[in-house]
Amino acid sequence: MRKILIVGNWKMHLNASQASLLVHRLQERIKIYRDIEVVLAPSMLTLQPLSLQIDRRKFRLAAQNAYFRDEGPFTGEVSFNMLRDIVHYVIIGHSERRQLFHDNLATVRDKMAAAVRNEIVPILCVGETQQEREDKETKQVLHDQLMTALSNLTAAEVADVVIAYEPIWAIGQVTAKPGQVAEAVTYVRGYVRDVFGEKVAKNIRILYGGDVAPEVVHGLLDVPGVDGFLVGHGSLNYETFAAIVEATHRWQRNNNGEMAPVKGE
Ligand code: PEP
Repeated sequence: MRKILIVGNWKMHLNASQASLLVHRLQERIKIYRDIEVVLAPSMLTLQPLSLQIDRRKFRLAAQNAYFRDEGPFTGEVSFNMLRDIVHYVIIGHSERRQLFHDNLATVRDKMAAAVRNEIVPILCVGETQQEREDKETKQVLHDQLMTALSNLTAAEVADVVIAYEPIWAIGQVTAKPGQVAEAVTYVRGYVRDVFGEKVAKNIRILYGGDVAPEVVHGLLDVPGVDGFLVGHGSLNYETFAAIVEATHRWQRNNNGEMAPVKGE
């Protein structure tokens, strides 16, 4: 069974002392849940000190980005190789990186391979813009993003990857409707099934991201095939983030720990 995953993406917020305080508050609030994995993605600067502070029974760390070469003359960059003992996950292809920092399909593909090579689990972000949705191009966009990002990985490697469906129009704005999430998540898992096989499709975890708040958690977890969340601004407030984890736990208890069945399972 796939373990629910909740990732807090702190983006470029919080200096070292603010980050440490947030971890302290989260540690007070969030209990150890056997069936929920909680991951924090602070800034690159604070990963190292937080790796010493976090209670590893409660949290794992993720980097928000890294460079695909392992070392060399790349001023200002940090490699996956440098992060491998500090983080368990890395977010790759976030729409802000694609839009603001020119991470294109090929860069994302190379970062995916670099993460896997360095034994860091990639959280691959995919999703369409508002215009692409209006033009009915959502599936084509997802297809292109998945095809390139996963193209240098074996089926066994893809089985461990996490994919976050993050419609760009939803981020920081509005939660996508369960029906919209269902359609995209079904497409993503179907793509994985078609290319890498049934076993991989059953194993891979697919998250939803875009304005997730405690009130929408149950409705989204009811969507077949949604295995958790990537949370942006809500993860900077300890009460909100803890409430998202708590709501997830309640949903799991109500559903006897069973995820909604995915077609074909
Ligand atoms: C994100 O940027 O990954 C995200 C999900 O942001 P928010 O929760 O703020 O919409």
